[in-house]
Amino acid sequence: MRGLLKALRPRPEASPRPAPGAAYEMAAMQGREADQRLCGLPASLLPDWQETLLATFRRALERYRGFRHHLESCVRCGACAAACPYYQGTADPLNMPAARAGLAREVYRRFLAPGGPRRPAAELPWSLIQKWWVYFHQCSLCRRCALYCPLGLDTSEITFACREIMAEIGLCGQAGSGGAAEVYRTGNREGVMHASWVQRHLRLEQELERETGQPIPCPVDEYGADVLFLPPAGDMVRHRATYKAYAKLFYAAGIKWTVSTYVSDAANPGAWLNYRNMRLAHFRLLEAARELRPKMVVWGESGMGWRVAARFAASLKPSWSGEDYLERKAPLNIIEWAHHLYQRGAFQGRFRPEANTGRVVTYHDPCQVARSCGMISQPRQLLNAVCIWREMPAHTVGLNTLCCGGGGGLSLANPELALAGFLPRAQALDHVRRAHACNWVATACDGCRDALTRGVRHFGLGMSVGSVAELLGNALYPAALGNKAEEACEAG
Ligand code: SF4
Ligand code: SF4
Repeated sequence: MRGLLKALRPRPEASPRPAPGAAYEMAAMQGREADQRLCGLPASLLPDWQETLLATFRRALERYRGFRHHLESCVRCGACAAACPYYQGTADPLNMPAARAGLAREVYRRFLAPGGPRRPAAELPWSLIQKWWVYFHQCSLCRRCALYCPLGLDTSEITFACREIMAEIGLCGQAGSGGAAEVYRTGNREGVMHASWVQRHLRLEQELERETGQPIPCPVDEYGADVLFLPPAGDMVRHRATYKAYAKLFYAAGIKWTVSTYVSDAANPGAWLNYRNMRLAHFRLLEAARELRPKMVVWGESGMGWRVAARFAASLKPSWSGEDYLERKAPLNIIEWAHHLYQRGAFQGRFRPEANTGRVVTYHDPCQVARSCGMISQPRQLLNAVCIWREMPAHTVGLNTLCCGGGGGLSLANPELALAGFLPRAQALDHVRRAHACNWVATACDGCRDALTRGVRHFGLGMSVGSVAELLGNALYPAALGNKAEEACEAG
């Protein structure tokens, strides 16, 4: 790891690797009182926090079977340590997945385990819960440890449960409570109000017409469209090329689409907080769909939001299967949707890879999309159609993918820590930069795009960051993109 630090070039004033033990100074930001209230949680630490914490822990043991199993089954083999990007990046022993889980195990053994000492709640030490606060906000919920554990133990499930337990006593990370509260207030994490959301789509239509010469619509709140699209709101604000690409893809495929003002973000920050807010944030979409009655729901390039939709939604009540207006009873990811259409020839003769000339791309698998939802081959097959791209080393891609440094709300909560967690990914990017002259990183999650942009800049990797959709959109309509694309085509 030391060699890597020398090889890369972090800005000297911002060391990416804190000294072991220094992590205590890197606690996540506590949420605002108003946000916590809006999320139905105590505004600040409860006076009887010890009793409430143990009661919530007991409920979590009953409700989440995996939680108890993970607490009781670890054999301390240590195989998960090297898997965790945050242990690799910080070398802090308490960032080893088993040690992180051990913080929860300590409470379980002393206060709750059947046959254990069952100490009174008043003996629960505040110093231990301070460690919870720090280390359960230094886990990005990436699930890489579960892949390497011989027993398949998933420390992210312990992190989920312990964040939920802390939230019930009034300890909420700003990323979760602030993000969820903003979704309840405005429909998206970015705080874009309804009128502005509509205006931005009108402006986007004008820009697209100027750039392509085609009347590409960006409809809002259209009743009975083919597709209700859940965009990552961050793409509207920071990655407009990606947002335009979504519109181009729907237009090229001849699909009538719409977005909603009520729910205007594919992200689900409630999942970083607790189960109830994850469910509430997700159900806003169901409400929007009931109002607009589309034939199907397509999800934008988002990590945790997509994991909730793809992996948890079937067990949430009410489920999508009861919605009679839907022809497809479960949401589809935009990349899966584009891949499905591509395979059936919908974009036949429409992609011109020459438009991406000059880019040597590599692909970063978002943890939640690849490891948790299995979307691995589809983005790669689409990249084959529209650009030159090279794979990063095998132990860092697909199911083995590494954290972007932004998972679990970490880049918002704790930017210095996020850069430390990005270190293994920086090493893999540096490898393809040197070996294949890669100069562009594509990914399929808006949170990854933000985190990669920060990390790439911090380590001086000299690469651009964008989306798979952006590369697809760029390769569509080459003639209408003007001279630049035409020149690129001729040069190609
Ligand atoms: S889920 Fe990821 S960040 Fe959390 S302990 Fe496991 S490997 Fe580390
Ligand atoms: S790999 Fe599994 S069993 Fe081994 S220490 Fe880690 S969590 Fe425990």
